[in-house]
Amino acid sequence: MKKFSLLFGFVILFAIHSNANIVNVRILTTKVIRSFIFSPLGGNYAIYGDGVLLSDFDPTGIFQMTLEGNAIRLKTFEKDLGRFYNIKMISREPEASFKIKSINPQSKVRTYDGNVEVKLHTDNLQLLLVNSVDLEDYIAGVVESEGGRGSNLEYYKIQAILCRTYLLAHLNRHIQEGFEICDDVHCQAYASKASEDDIIQAVLATKGQVVVDNNLNLITAAFHSNCGGETCNSEDVWAISKSYLKSVKDTFCTSQSQAHWQRDISLEDWKSYLQLKQNNSKGKTPPMITSFNQAYGRAVYLEDKGLKIPLKNIRNDFKLKSTFFSIEQIGDSIKFKGRGYGHGVGLCQEGAMEMARQKYSYEYILHYYYKDVSLVDVSALSYFRQE
Ligand SMILES: [Zn+2]
Ligand SMILES: [Zn+2]
Repeated sequence: MKKFSLLFGFVILFAIHSNANIVNVRILTTKVIRSFIFSPLGGNYAIYGDGVLLSDFDPTGIFQMTLEGNAIRLKTFEKDLGRFYNIKMISREPEASFKIKSINPQSKVRTYDGNVEVKLHTDNLQLLLVNSVDLEDYIAGVVESEGGRGSNLEYYKIQAILCRTYLLAHLNRHIQEGFEICDDVHCQAYASKASEDDIIQAVLATKGQVVVDNNLNLITAAFHSNCGGETCNSEDVWAISKSYLKSVKDTFCTSQSQAHWQRDISLEDWKSYLQLKQNNSKGKTPPMITSFNQAYGRAVYLEDKGLKIPLKNIRNDFKLKSTFFSIEQIGDSIKFKGRGYGHGVGLCQEGAMEMARQKYSYEYILHYYYKDVSLVDVSALSYFRQE
């Protein structure tokens, strides 16, 4: 790892922290919310309607908010508190959390940390719910929502750092809409606050850490399920070259669940496909390619007698699990024998999980898959951004 520690020790002193650790996340993004119930889970909340503290309520109560014309009706079980354009539930304690249950449309109860603001969506047909949450609490929620459960602590640390890196690189994504990031897979899945201890521990242990390249830019933290034994250069898959997304050999994933796949395609379909791709010399019979292998490393093209097809196109066209395949003719079909699952760029998840099980550290694993990168504290980064 590059030694930035002295430099960063210095700049952290000068880093400005104004709201830097709070993230504004739109929650229940994919639902058109017209009515929902809010209730505190731990800690008390103060409720504000159009900026005014509504003191006449039980702070541990249950509140229903319903879209009504161009405003929001706020009610408790006992009382109608009026109509507002903007309602804020602000926690009175730092560790407070709350429950949300959508009533229209119906949905399951979800739990969140932090505060929530409710306003009208610009389409005037739904409510917009924005959860203002501590950055680290948000990261824990994302790791649990995206990574599932049952991994080990060291692997969760990697996920935490990559989720944090992604977040910081995408904070402006929804700024025009009145929030920073959404809770859908469009940004990062964030279904609720985290509950698994190992995830919470992993986020805490890597607090503030993000991955940057040589120019201190947050990296595009690409990852995939299984590389099949060798990751890809980003330029071979997306036509964008990144210094840290370079092909590496990986022996850790080759016995994992997504390491191998097979697929048969009829000879007839394969012939038609090659004919289709032979579009430069219409009418000419394309070369019949019935054998191809990548036994000694990944290729980028299937190439023979003037016909050259990018493997990524073949993968797309036949919905194959990866571009890391060999082909052979068996009878009247073409057999694809493939390795890995996914685009193959960046971190190989099954390889990283296996390395974590074999007690490699999260720092080692990150540097294994991302070349010439550094782990830095986000507060140091915000200092550089303000310069
Ligand atoms: Zn989004
Ligand atoms: Zn791999």
